Amino acid sequence: MFDTLSDRLSSVFTNLRGKGRLSDADIDATAREIRIALLEADVALPVVRQFTTAIKERARGEEVSKALNPAQQVIKIVNDELVEILGGQTRRLQFAKTPPTVIMLAGLQGAGKTTLAGKLARWLREQGHTPVLVACDLQRPNAVTQLQVVGERAGVAVYAPEPGNTDGGQTSSGPGGDPVKVARDSIEFARRAQHDMVIVDTAGRLGIDADMMQQAADIRDAVQPDEVLFVVDAMVGQDAVNTAEAFGDGVGFSGVVLTKLDGDARGGAALSVRYVTGQPIMFASNGEKLEDFDVFHPDRMASRILGMGDMLTLIEQAQQHFDEAEAEKMAAKLSGGMQNFTLEDFLDQLMAIRRMGPIGNLLGMLPGMGQMKDAISQVDDKDLDRTAAIIRSMTPAERENPKMINGSRRLRIANGSGVRVNDVNQLVDRFFEARKMMGQLGGMGLPGMRRASKK
Ligand code: GDP
Repeated sequence: MFDTLSDRLSSVFTNLRGKGRLSDADIDATAREIRIALLEADVALPVVRQFTTAIKERARGEEVSKALNPAQQVIKIVNDELVEILGGQTRRLQFAKTPPTVIMLAGLQGAGKTTLAGKLARWLREQGHTPVLVACDLQRPNAVTQLQVVGERAGVAVYAPEPGNTDGGQTSSGPGGDPVKVARDSIEFARRAQHDMVIVDTAGRLGIDADMMQQAADIRDAVQPDEVLFVVDAMVGQDAVNTAEAFGDGVGFSGVVLTKLDGDARGGAALSVRYVTGQPIMFASNGEKLEDFDVFHPDRMASRILGMGDMLTLIEQAQQHFDEAEAEKMAAKLSGGMQNFTLEDFLDQLMAIRRMGPIGNLLGMLPGMGQMKDAISQVDDKDLDRTAAIIRSMTPAERENPKMINGSRRLRIANGSGVRVNDVNQLVDRFFEARKMMGQLGGMGLPGMRRASKK
């Protein structure tokens, strides 16, 4: 997502580099190039207009003429404006004063509502909430089952009509039942079963239609949600904006969730939806797995688009996945010197990195990596897995003391892990090299060792 836009903007900035002062002509040319970049990214026209006008005005202003480095100042302005377009502040969920907090999901079929319901539930559960998912999509065949599967994976309860329950308008394909009644009853259920959050998944259609809107509005009236989240597939481009407007009129919503940000679409919807609907983007979904989900931070997204990486997200993910106690243990161990770092520790570190998600995603968050996309896409999670497999084929003694891994041991390890002896050689060599280097860096090499470097 945003690849073309990032590339375009980065070449705009390159053109400015080295200029001591920006003439009006420079500013006009820059604004024009930014305009083209945004249009190519499928950003809605009113948004493009507002954006380029703001850039032009500010670039002509004092902050740039007085700046030591006008190009950097322009980058800052573009960054500020991007943050603004994306919604400014991060918008957090609003909770009800008296539980349960009710979150209703609305959007077209295929937008990713059901998947999102699971992601949201898992995320809330990790924060100590006790969410229940409510199946109000009684139209699509298998929708209820899909929600049940998602609920199970997320480790949360699912409230659904009994199979064969024909209470209300049964359809030929769905399990039947009245979604409005299911929604209403679910609140009572949540109260009784002490669920502090209710996430209501509603039916979508392939296109907008009056019946669907009416049903969503009825469910909204029945459950009085604290938040209505409009879920929209970022891959659909300009259409997303039209759909958002229709949902805004028909049901109303308090926040937007963008899904499929992992796709290679141009990202215009993401940049337009806030401006067009006036509602903030609250979450972003970027993959099919339950953990591919994050609170949406306008500032971080802007810096990612500008190729400045997303250090904050990276740091947060690292914190989430690294065990403080483990880190302390490692630090204590290494305070005696890097020779204490064993292959076993190395394996632990690899696994910790692996838990943070696909390695390509992680690298993509580092500043300056925007230009290295091709190289990053070559980085393979399988490499990590293979390294782990090799280490796992070693005996505890070998992991503890890699120096003892001689020729015959290497052959055994290679056979055990299904690789060539050469791969084992490389791993062992690389391990010793890395250990030496980390010793020189004072333990800054790997995450989880930050304590060690402070000592
Ligand atoms: P619903 O009809 O709105 O409930 O949509 P679903 O949750 O069933 O999602 C439709 C399809 O999109 C499914 O195949 C999901 O696995 C997929 N999907 C959902 N969210 C994402 C995402 O963030 N990235 C990708 N790549 N696929 C997604």
